[in-house]
This record gives sequence, C-alpha cells and structure tokens, in this order.
Amino acid sequence: MSHEGIRIVSEETARRESAAEQRLPAEVVTPLKVRVMKSEGTGVAIEWKDGHHSAWNFAWLRAGCPCATCNEERNASGRKPGEVKPSAPTGPLVLYQAPPRPVDVTPVGKYAIRFKWNDGHESGIYSWDYLRRVCQCDDCRNSSSI
Ligand SMILES: [Zn+2]
Ligand SMILES: [Zn+2]
Repeated sequence: MSHEGIRIVSEETARRESAAEQRLPAEVVTPLKVRVMKSEGTGVAIEWKDGHHSAWNFAWLRAGCPCATCNEERNASGRKPGEVKPSAPTGPLVLYQAPPRPVDVTPVGKYAIRFKWNDGHESGIYSWDYLRRVCQCDDCRNSSSI
C-alpha cells in the first residue's frame, strides 16, 4: 500500500467534486438557446446542444436556488431542489405571498445564469450543469438518481 492516492483538497473542491460525481459531456451541458420568459412570468426554457429541451417555472427555480444558504436549508428540512417550502402556520392570518419572479437576470460568464428574485434573494448561481441535472422533463425525472 502506498499513499499515492491521498490528495489534499480544499473543502470547496471536495464539495464541487462530489456534486459532479459523474461528469456530463460538454454538449449535454451547453445551451444552444436559453429563453427567460421574464415579462410573461412563466419560467426558463433551454434548448441544449445535444437536442434535449428543458423547462422550469420560476417557482421551481426559486425553490431550487443552489446557493449555500438555500442548500443548507433544504438539507435541514430534507427537501429536494425545487420542492417548495411548506408555509409556516399563521393561524387565522393568511399571508399572501407574491409568486416568485425574477426582477433581474444576468449571465455569469459562459457557464451560469443568476437571478435576482422579487423577494430580494440573489445569491444563487444556476450553472448550466446544475440546470441540466435538475431537468424536469419526464425522461430525466424517471431516470434521475437524485
Ligand atoms: Zn439561495
Ligand atoms: Zn430532460
């Protein structure tokens, strides 16, 4: 036995590596067309280089925010990305919450997209890789191991 297999990796690298256990081929995570239906308020549709189509509504994307805070919150409550948080019981008081909608959408380099949501949250960076992994089409949902 040797120690050649031992590598010192930063916590961040380790986290990134475990998230990307199986690397997806480039054409799978490269969008040809990204449509953000911001004024319609419906969601995001992506046509990928491999011919696959994906779509998410904004409620899903907000609940699936990949930032560290939202990730922790989801892990703590056992929710999957995109699963909406059950609203806390408020007794007779009914709070109306505006449906999630981005007020601003900006590309992040060539690899991701960033939303500023109408609730003020804006730390989530949605990489193409992440989005492809959480594709909501029937095929992907049935074959997904997540
Ligand atoms: Zn977040
Ligand atoms: Zn799919």
